[in-house]
Amino acid sequence: MALKVFDLRCDNEHPFEGWFRSDGDFESQQTRGLLECPLCGSKQVRRLPSAPRLNLAAPAEHKQEAALPTAAQMQALLVKMAREIAANTEDVGERFAEEARRIHYKEAPERGIRGVTSKQEAEALEDEGINVMPLPFAHLLKDPLQ
Ligand SMILES: [Zn+2]
Repeated sequence: MALKVFDLRCDNEHPFEGWFRSDGDFESQQTRGLLECPLCGSKQVRRLPSAPRLNLAAPAEHKQEAALPTAAQMQALLVKMAREIAANTEDVGERFAEEARRIHYKEAPERGIRGVTSKQEAEALEDEGINVMPLPFAHLLKDPLQ
């Protein structure tokens, strides 16, 4: 909720600020004697003319919203990456380790492949000098073009 800040002054000329929902809220509190100078306790409070000020909390909230991508935006980004990988690799499925070796030892044409393999198999490939890149979003590659 936005609040209005009014510059107030008591009959002893002490300046202070008051926060109100509206002009009517200020007038209501003033006529009921609810306003009081924080320095001297005087209830003879008047409002000074001042330019309206914005609630300073609002810009910070907007900044935070802009900085954090939503779950839907993250998902869209992963799908886009998955589609690019799918377009540039051949899906060899369960034959991944076998096919990676054949390419490495030049028994098959060199190309990008993707597929599934066990952690042990991936480590064995690494030991043979074959680079394996794990895909944390592999489930998106199943039907990425639909
Ligand atoms: Zn005062």
